[in-house]
Amino acid sequence: MPIVNRIAEFHKEITAWRHDLHQHPELQYDVFRTAKTVEDKLKAFGCDEVVPGIGRTGVVGVIKGNKPGGSGHAKVIGLRADMDALPIEEANDLPYKSTVPGKMHACGHDGHTAMLLGAAKYLAETRNFAGTAIVIFQPAEEGGGGGREMVNDGMMDRFGVEEVYGMHNYPGIPLGQFAIRNGPIMAAADRITIEIEGKGAHAARPHASVDTILVASQMINQIQTIVSRNVDPLESSVVSICMFQAGTTDNVIPQTAVLRGTARSLKPEIQDLVEGRLHQIVEGTAKLYGATAKLTYKRDYPVTRNHPDQMAFAASVAKEIAGEDKVDTNVAPVMGAEDFSFMLNARPGAFIFAGNGDSAGLHHPKYNFNDDLIPIGSSYWVRLVEKALAA
Ligand SMILES: [Zn+2]
Ligand SMILES: [Zn+2]
Repeated sequence: MPIVNRIAEFHKEITAWRHDLHQHPELQYDVFRTAKTVEDKLKAFGCDEVVPGIGRTGVVGVIKGNKPGGSGHAKVIGLRADMDALPIEEANDLPYKSTVPGKMHACGHDGHTAMLLGAAKYLAETRNFAGTAIVIFQPAEEGGGGGREMVNDGMMDRFGVEEVYGMHNYPGIPLGQFAIRNGPIMAAADRITIEIEGKGAHAARPHASVDTILVASQMINQIQTIVSRNVDPLESSVVSICMFQAGTTDNVIPQTAVLRGTARSLKPEIQDLVEGRLHQIVEGTAKLYGATAKLTYKRDYPVTRNHPDQMAFAASVAKEIAGEDKVDTNVAPVMGAEDFSFMLNARPGAFIFAGNGDSAGLHHPKYNFNDDLIPIGSSYWVRLVEKALAA
């Protein structure tokens, strides 16, 4: 596997950075220590410009190549990593285990940040390209929309980013392999909140109540017919109700109930269908039982959609690193979501999965980023820059 030699020399150092980040997980936009670590390192590497505070706590580094001309397909490309952790208690027994109770890097963003830092160190040292590499470290990937905030902060125009690339580790894909696809690779994720108002009563007087627990239960059952009966079986969609809040004790029929959940889709027409059916079911079911209900349907992360030229380019770089037969270029899309989608809606680019080997799944308390992925991921980043911005 042609790992970049100089990156291989950095492997131990990058691993130490990763372990330090792993010990100090931070959530959402409160990635103050992580962002400061990134900022300090980028400055120490000699980046031409280091700008903190983009999209609240995001950090951007600018590295200019020292080759003249430019026969590559771009002049400025962005590489993006995410910095935030999750509110999960770590169940691993590691020498560098999380030191913060109830927080851990269970999605491998410690590894993503470390790999991009490693690439930045190499790129700032060698500058063997014509053009500019922009390294992007975003906060709040885990539901907070940090990628959206950085785009809304004018990052793409300010740094002249022409194309943007992202990478996520992937448990279950063997180490040393990559997976990518053209078009949608991850789903749109929308948030569902349903507030139901009935009529509270003594538990022994159900006839005097409008039972919100019964109404909400019927709603959940009806909602589960959307994907099974309304969506074309050859299309993809998920509707999950994940929170049901009602009642405080065993002898009172509660006046109100709240349901919350998520809807996922890969196409706008399916998204429209799901939202429309949810409104009909929520309003119709409430009416049937004499309750009232309000659905709030919030379109959140859009579909992560790879652009054909940049996807083909990313796949060619991955093949160079991993080998021709180690890159799946038609992987099935997943119904998880990514806020890198906001960057892909702003600029053409591609998002790739890198095998984390046989680890626990993402967001599991026993998940851990695979340190052997570091030289592979960092090499992918530096070759992406050297090829896209070839002299
Ligand atoms: Zn995650
Ligand atoms: Zn993640």
